[in-house]
Amino acid sequence: MTLPRQAALPDSYADLDESALRERLAARKAELADRLLILCHHYQQEAVFAHADVTGDSLKLARAAASARDRRFIVFCGVHFMAESADILTAADQVVILPDLRAGCSMADMAGHEEMAEAWQELLGAVGQGVRLTPLTYVNSSARLKALVGQRGGSVCTSSNAERVLTWGLARGDKVFFFPDEHLGRNSAAALGIPDDEVVLWQRGRPLGGNPVAALKKAKVILWNGCCSVHMQFKAEHVRQWRAKEPDIRVIVHPECRREVVRAADLYGSTERIIQAIRESPPGSKWAIGTEINLVNRLARLYPDKASHSLSPFQCLCSTMYRIKPAYLLWVLDNLAAGRIVNRITVDQETAAQAKIALDRMLEI
Ligand code: SF4
Repeated sequence: MTLPRQAALPDSYADLDESALRERLAARKAELADRLLILCHHYQQEAVFAHADVTGDSLKLARAAASARDRRFIVFCGVHFMAESADILTAADQVVILPDLRAGCSMADMAGHEEMAEAWQELLGAVGQGVRLTPLTYVNSSARLKALVGQRGGSVCTSSNAERVLTWGLARGDKVFFFPDEHLGRNSAAALGIPDDEVVLWQRGRPLGGNPVAALKKAKVILWNGCCSVHMQFKAEHVRQWRAKEPDIRVIVHPECRREVVRAADLYGSTERIIQAIRESPPGSKWAIGTEINLVNRLARLYPDKASHSLSPFQCLCSTMYRIKPAYLLWVLDNLAAGRIVNRITVDQETAAQAKIALDRMLEI
């Protein structure tokens, strides 16, 4: 997906130090008051996170946007697909803004809507037109991909409800085509007890996704081979290293991690589930956490009576999310205060209507 070009920040923002940015952001927030809602994803850096009205994972933030009917301006400190979902779920007179238009998601970019439509036809041709195929997409996907899923009778899912949505998809048809995260799909299928030989990987760019027709006919779940570049950095070896160093450590990882990492961990779950596990654990607990570093560092600060470490020895940072800097946030708020809207994210009406079908279906499930 090609993101719109981000305008260069005026020079006057480049020289602002941390405390000036903090003060000016607080003043602008107070000025825009109840016309404004700032949403922040858990992976945001602290200097942005500190200005949030609502924090959460993508599902919680989408819900917050949908219920904020009284706020005219919704500034989404997340990535592009999240702002698109907010635009789909809000009213036409509400404005959704992404402070830096370069904040995309590499996983969402791995599933283009045209590629998906072609693969869909190819798969149907291979397994037979009479076979009932249900598409499911992780919320980490473009609005156009969600729209194709909505058109074809499928649903969106999140990392909190993927197993439930997959169960629904399998109950309503013969097979599920799962986009774009291979690992969330594989971990969810394994949790439901689906045998490995009924789960196949569709490799983009290869005829029939690189699968024999017999394997596609047998499969219950066909996984698109997208992934998260951040969660792919965690390895089963890291789990073994932590256990050797700290025998009483507990390991919790996000389901975007590879199957072998999830299998080696004690627990896995969405970012909200990870936060809950650390918060509710007894004082003195030790955790190795397989998710984005800003969240891990925040958990370490918020719960100093527990030891929270990154599972990986390397900094697993979502570099696109990190593009949302305090200066960009201030720049969009300054423009709003001056009566100008910059960096608005809009989804055209037809795409929004079809994508909303898939989003609403998830909420019903
Ligand atoms: S952490 Fe991974 S899935 Fe989440 S926004 Fe970043 S690249 Fe996308």
